[in-house]
Amino acid sequence: MKIEDLNNDILHCTDCTLCTTRKNVVVFRGMSTPDILLIGEAPGAEEDEQGIPFVGRSGQLLDKVLLANNINNFAIINILKCRPPGNRKPTQTEVNACSHWLEAQLLLLQPKIIVLLGATALNYFFPGQRITKSVQDTLYSSSTFEKDGMKFVAVFHPSYILRGSVSVDEYIRSFGSIINIMDGIK
Ligand code: URA
Repeated sequence: MKIEDLNNDILHCTDCTLCTTRKNVVVFRGMSTPDILLIGEAPGAEEDEQGIPFVGRSGQLLDKVLLANNINNFAIINILKCRPPGNRKPTQTEVNACSHWLEAQLLLLQPKIIVLLGATALNYFFPGQRITKSVQDTLYSSSTFEKDGMKFVAVFHPSYILRGSVSVDEYIRSFGSIINIMDGIK
């Protein structure tokens, strides 16, 4: 199966109750054979409106940081493909219902490295890991997580940077370390 066909199937999903409140299914943006796959939590209002991941303020920051690091061969998806109403956190039932789509996307995309954006994405794959410690490991030790033959790193979710918790410069640097890690993988 091709990623385009899978993404098309996801558009018709009715596996959980979010299909009754969503405007659009938010499936994918980017390259079909990416070196880097970024994984966020769930679509927000802007993404629900447009049907494209990370097109709101968080996405604009993400694009700026990727551009600053000259990262072009990437794709972006979310754990959840539909927006939880009012931007509430996804429930475990919703995450469970959606996870087969995520697993199928990972199988087809086969990126060199997966970048987990924030704690929800980190804890989906690595329950109990602390986001702050994982981000420091990425930045200062270039260490990766491994699972099912895939390599992962964690960075803060861009919304955390927008709240002023970490500077944009440091956020740009953490993506720079990802490139160094990837160069070591080749
Ligand atoms: N936050 C996310 O985690 N995903 C999006 O697509 C937008 C905002």
